Amino acid sequence: MRYIFSKSFNFIIAVIFMTFVNSAFAQTKVEGLLYLTKKPVSVEIKDGKIVRIQQLKKLSDQSHPFYIAPGLIDNQVNGFAGVSFCFAGGELTKEGILKATQELWKKGVTTYLPTLTTNTTEVLKHNFALLANSKNDKELHGSIAGFHLEGPYISPIDGYRGAHPLKYVRKPDWNEFMEFYEASGKNIVTITVAPELDGSMEFIQKCTALGIIVAIGHHNATKAIIDEAVENGARITTHLGNGCANMINRHVNPLWPQLANDKLMASIICDGFHLRDEEITVFYKVKGPDKTIITSDVTSFAALPPGEYKNEEGETIELTKEGMLRLPVQNVLYGSASPITKGVAHIMKVTGCSLAEAIRMSSTNPAKLYHLNDRGTIETGKRADLILFEIGDSELVIKKTYVEGELVYAAEQ
Ligand SMILES: [Zn+2]
Repeated sequence: MRYIFSKSFNFIIAVIFMTFVNSAFAQTKVEGLLYLTKKPVSVEIKDGKIVRIQQLKKLSDQSHPFYIAPGLIDNQVNGFAGVSFCFAGGELTKEGILKATQELWKKGVTTYLPTLTTNTTEVLKHNFALLANSKNDKELHGSIAGFHLEGPYISPIDGYRGAHPLKYVRKPDWNEFMEFYEASGKNIVTITVAPELDGSMEFIQKCTALGIIVAIGHHNATKAIIDEAVENGARITTHLGNGCANMINRHVNPLWPQLANDKLMASIICDGFHLRDEEITVFYKVKGPDKTIITSDVTSFAALPPGEYKNEEGETIELTKEGMLRLPVQNVLYGSASPITKGVAHIMKVTGCSLAEAIRMSSTNPAKLYHLNDRGTIETGKRADLILFEIGDSELVIKKTYVEGELVYAAEQ
């Protein structure tokens, strides 16, 4: 009896010890073909961070040679999979924010900026407060890095205004913006404004002083105004080539000076609908892989079946079977229904840029721009935000997504 007790006791101690050892030293190893070199590597993860990267002679499982890259970072997400961040009336819930985040993980997006567009003071404050209330929820794993405010301080002119409702478009109002900023828990990290509006330059200066990344967009500014905005701190142009009228002067228009200014980065929507292939080619040739950011401008209509839907204004929105999202009454695009994975594959196809360059434009560059120093590359010490994927015909096909070292999505085999 005494012997049996002692043996069981030893066994229990051993189990406890092994459990301790496992939890204290538990490491996950993820293998894949490194996006930079296309050579096999193993990435070791501990406590949510990358602790070691090792070159391998070959992958352990040769039947699944997936690429491995840092998680994608999308700076313009209006909503996803039926969840709108912009919708008025309290429909935005914690569950909705979690659902949108989980659906984005399936598309390899491990960090994103929920984007609120032109609306009333009340709606913007309300939705910023709701987002701020969820931003640090544990189950989101820090995937929301801050918020993007696109509008309401944009051009009222048709075409430049895009699909933003005219009745809510207005001139920059610092006091009102401060109300948004406070409601957001000081989490507005970037704002898109039209620099030609009265008071815009002072507004840009003040945002820059607060550390908010100023983007110019939905504008009809001259070269002088664009250059002045950049001198005052504007860093990037929002979805270059969109938020622009169809009929423009061939010499004097907002496109040339934005392309010509080397201090201005450009975000571009590469879903195959917002820009023609030759536009993407030229923008990429001018800005290059260090000054280009691939964005999705994706809306709540993404990941829904084709058909007609109603927006908040009661207008009919059409999602075509090809994936184009339109506001037929104005004959303008209504944001995008294509996740950033499509943009990454499309820009590679159109420009011939490498996978390394495409990931730089969809992860490394936004991480740098928004000072997200813990992500955007695969390096020891960084967050283990990783994606395993194949390059499909029209988009990256995500196989696994890790956020903060946790496997949050695995495609069915
Ligand atoms: Zn826009």
